[in-house]
Amino acid sequence: MTSGFKKAASIAARSLAHGKPHHAQWLVTRKCNYRCVGCNVWKEQDQRELSTDEIKKGLDILKKLGIVELVLSGGDPLLREDIGEIIDYASKLFVTTVYDNGSMAAKKLDALRKADFVAISIDSLDEAKNDYIKSVPGAWKNATQAVETLHNEGIKVSVTPTISQKNLYEIVDITNHFTGKGIPVWYCLYSYDTSVDSNQLFRIGKANDEFVITDKQAMVNLCNSLIEMKKKNKKILMTDKLLEALRSIYEEDSKRTWKCQALNQFLVVDHLGRVAGCHSHNFAGSIFDLPKKWKSPEFNELRETYHECTQCNYLCYVFYSLHGSPCGHLSLARDQWKNAKLLFK
Ligand code: SF4
Ligand code: SF4
Repeated sequence: MTSGFKKAASIAARSLAHGKPHHAQWLVTRKCNYRCVGCNVWKEQDQRELSTDEIKKGLDILKKLGIVELVLSGGDPLLREDIGEIIDYASKLFVTTVYDNGSMAAKKLDALRKADFVAISIDSLDEAKNDYIKSVPGAWKNATQAVETLHNEGIKVSVTPTISQKNLYEIVDITNHFTGKGIPVWYCLYSYDTSVDSNQLFRIGKANDEFVITDKQAMVNLCNSLIEMKKKNKKILMTDKLLEALRSIYEEDSKRTWKCQALNQFLVVDHLGRVAGCHSHNFAGSIFDLPKKWKSPEFNELRETYHECTQCNYLCYVFYSLHGSPCGHLSLARDQWKNAKLLFK
């Protein structure tokens, strides 16, 4: 049996298992070389991080827990010297996506060849606007060149704009621009942390009036356009269910159509190996405690609290909450099988 086939079979089996978490995001470093206006991470950098062996041990634990999809992020995960070894190890166990702000990917091609997907952040087709958002001159050039290089090298690269008031009216153009070149687009949604938990694991989104979406009708229209475009454009990596949920937050009778599945369908791990349902709450233990804590009364109590929480609209959390029902699980399993086909390459 080839290693690709073994991975595909193992992923398919885990995708169909019930009562197991599906998705983990591991922020393997707090180091970042960018200074994005809407982000807090770069202000709270920390040089400490787990060793390569500790990360591998943690990845084994996540696999046993049932995790299917892993996102390696940060900071910028590609700033870790050992990132090639981490990606190599992770990609044998999970459908593995690696995030990059666009500054490092072209320098780490060999490491990235092993990843299933690489996501590069580009927020505008307007170079000056993009560089303002990132607060780094040359960010746009670096990111667009990295996307082109990876695409030409046959590495599965996607572009991930963060939708905000700053770029709301150009999201359709950004989508057409990249998908027209055969590059998939996935979106983030500008959010800022409003956590009432003073012990929250770490802060990501920073409140900024320029970014908060004020034109709600334009957001509704954008969701409708993307739903329509998706019928013909398979490179738009959003489910209809996610776009409909997003639309419902911005409609006049605004409502949330999902219950949060933090610490149930998904979890986050930080650079020190601390585990939380999401970054907005305090950590609930170390990754090395997960096997004994996962089914504990303490975790069950946290799950109930998070289930009622309505504090944030971070799109990846919404996505894994929406697809957490048995029915959603099956549709994700089908998606995983499509992804798994990539593993035979
Ligand atoms: S958004 Fe990402 S790239 Fe930008 S400063 Fe924050 S962690 Fe760094
Ligand atoms: S809604 Fe869920 S993901 Fe968002 S802050 Fe609450 S528990 Fe965390």
